[in-house]
Amino acid sequence: MKRCILSAALCIAFAMALPAAARRYLPPVKEPAPALPADADPDPSPEGSAALTPDGEATLTLLSGGEVLTLTMREYLPGVLAGEMPASFAPEALRAQAAAARTYAMYRMAHSDARHPQADLCSDPACCQVWLSEEALRQRWGESYSRYSALYAAAAEDTDGAYLTWEGEPILACFHAASPGQTESCEALWGTAVPYLVSVDTPEGEADVPGFVTTAELTPEALRQGVAAVCPQADFSAGPEAWIGERVTDVSGRVASIRIGGAALPGTKVREIFALRSACFTLEWTGDRFVFTVTGSGHGVGMSQYGANVMARSGADWKAILAHYYPGTALVNAPA
Ligand SMILES: [Zn+2]
Repeated sequence: MKRCILSAALCIAFAMALPAAARRYLPPVKEPAPALPADADPDPSPEGSAALTPDGEATLTLLSGGEVLTLTMREYLPGVLAGEMPASFAPEALRAQAAAARTYAMYRMAHSDARHPQADLCSDPACCQVWLSEEALRQRWGESYSRYSALYAAAAEDTDGAYLTWEGEPILACFHAASPGQTESCEALWGTAVPYLVSVDTPEGEADVPGFVTTAELTPEALRQGVAAVCPQADFSAGPEAWIGERVTDVSGRVASIRIGGAALPGTKVREIFALRSACFTLEWTGDRFVFTVTGSGHGVGMSQYGANVMARSGADWKAILAHYYPGTALVNAPA
């Protein structure tokens, strides 16, 4: 019982402290963990009704365009998948994404988000996971609407009702676009250890991911202004060739911290300031400008979408992909 209470409190802390499953970087919200709500079940049963609910019978509320919509999971998931993964990805990767997106939605259904207490989820990828309406998809796809919508609906249907659990509860199924050989751990990124959000190998590389390695060039003044805005104590009195100091990487290869103007900045902060695609970067002075060279895309926690596609093309099925990126979790309610 004690373990379950702690687990529930931890999950609620994550709901408050951790951002979207979506691929873009979001800074953690530094709020204290809230108390358990009075009506929370301190000992939820993994055999509860949600465990056996098919997508057509599970309903959720979604804030989209200022309106709160009530949708079944079957209606909701294809609009997420269409926004999260290209139709050209392998079917097993699309299925893995469907189960991850369903799990993320169920997590949010169990732990309301203070940013929109009126709805379980929102359609803003900077907060929850992206969701595109049928109207938006018809506009996007035109005459190909029927073909593409059927493909995404099939990925949801093929995994109908399946979701990932840890100790019987839906997990916080974070995902991101692409990682540089290793995914990021939740602890390294957000400071909270989560047993199933740890750094794992991931197979994607330059041949698999468009824009896997990107560069960003800055004038010395642009670098100075960007850093000084968040770190006024940084010292830029010497020449630019002396501004960049020690760069420390974490186990996944991302920048844990880098000294700029003598001040140590977290890699995620540098990523945020300069809108880098990931926190796996080098920074060099070329003699007339600074150049960031960045590998991967997204925060790096949980399933890598491009990695899932590479695994699928190598023969892995959706269950194996999920087991790889969310180690130690159990897949519940999976169709045979
Ligand atoms: Zn949201």
